Amino acid sequence: MALTEYRRKRDFTRTPEPAGVEVGPRVSPKLSFVIQKHAARRLHYDFRLELDGVLKSWAVPKGPSTDPAEKRLAVHTEDHPLEYGGFEGVIPERNYGAGASMIWDRGSWTPLDPDPWAAYAKGALKFKLNGQKLHGKWALVRMGGRHAGRDKENWLLIKERDAASVPGSGDAIVADNPRSAATGRTIEEIAADRDRIWGPNGEERPECPTEAQQHQPLVDPAGIAGAEKARMPADPRPLLASIAAQPPDGPDWLHEIKYDGYRLLAQVQDGDVRLTTRNDLDWTGKFPALAGRFADLAVETALIDGELVYLKADGTSDFNRLQEAIANERTDGLVFYAIDLLYVEGWDLRDAALEDRKAALAALVPAAADGILRYSDHQIGRGPDFFRYACAYRRHRFKAP
Ligand code: MN
Repeated sequence: MALTEYRRKRDFTRTPEPAGVEVGPRVSPKLSFVIQKHAARRLHYDFRLELDGVLKSWAVPKGPSTDPAEKRLAVHTEDHPLEYGGFEGVIPERNYGAGASMIWDRGSWTPLDPDPWAAYAKGALKFKLNGQKLHGKWALVRMGGRHAGRDKENWLLIKERDAASVPGSGDAIVADNPRSAATGRTIEEIAADRDRIWGPNGEERPECPTEAQQHQPLVDPAGIAGAEKARMPADPRPLLASIAAQPPDGPDWLHEIKYDGYRLLAQVQDGDVRLTTRNDLDWTGKFPALAGRFADLAVETALIDGELVYLKADGTSDFNRLQEAIANERTDGLVFYAIDLLYVEGWDLRDAALEDRKAALAALVPAAADGILRYSDHQIGRGPDFFRYACAYRRHRFKAP
């Protein structure tokens, strides 16, 4: 019943979107949410919260803002099936909502109302988001009077003031984070890649790719400015950090997390993997699970720079626990954050821009991969903000009870 309107609008023989299964309300402490960036006739962000076994949905033309002063119009739309949260791909021409759709953010949400069903019905929903991009408290409020909307209800999506709100940030959260939370692709890349459809868990759906597409490489190094055809460098010298008094500002800088772990270089050559330390010690034997993940990457040759860490439940790295894990040979749960791609498929990328190298790296190691091999994302520009935010986060975490 809840999906009647959703299904009425679509012909599932002509669109890759899921028809959906009707399920009852889930008695789950974790309700899912997803925000899809949808380049339909007009670009908008589809904001969806799981409730009653479906995704309650709103179309937000300008997207969310972390600025509490920015109240974003959210036009209420039909319920979508839960599986829709895993949909990323292209809705073909002449279908409802034709255009590319990206999983811009996803995660879980927690209702802050004692009875979220009643709150939704009343048109005033307060909740917490735990996504990859959005965090903290939010509200969805239905408008009344002359703003109520005619055939569709008009609501407002508002960031509440808390540690995750960024007053004055305007469009920054969407402007600075244009990539898919599932695959690291931009909306343009998804549109260009129109036959690749992703399933609920980020896996490629088996029925879609043709023979030719299966053999299409994930990375096209020849298209990267500064890439040079060469043999794999014997002494690649990855980029090292240096200390600065001030965080640099401006769009020429990209900002990353400095992990507290071991820097390792992964060398992949025809299924053969070597993991070496900064002092060129071969540590491959210490990390069999990780070596296996590198061997599974869809490349013949690659040099991937990164940091091996022990990740605590709060998402921070712990160097002592890392040393312990290695000493006890219990390394299967360690996480490798890939930070740079120096060489791939016969091309030396060391003279290419870091941003281009990371884009190629993200294609190999998707941004949202949550296994033992992960892509380390970055923030372009706004260094001082990034720095202040990191300091605030630290203070917040270590604040005495
Ligand atoms: Mn839409």
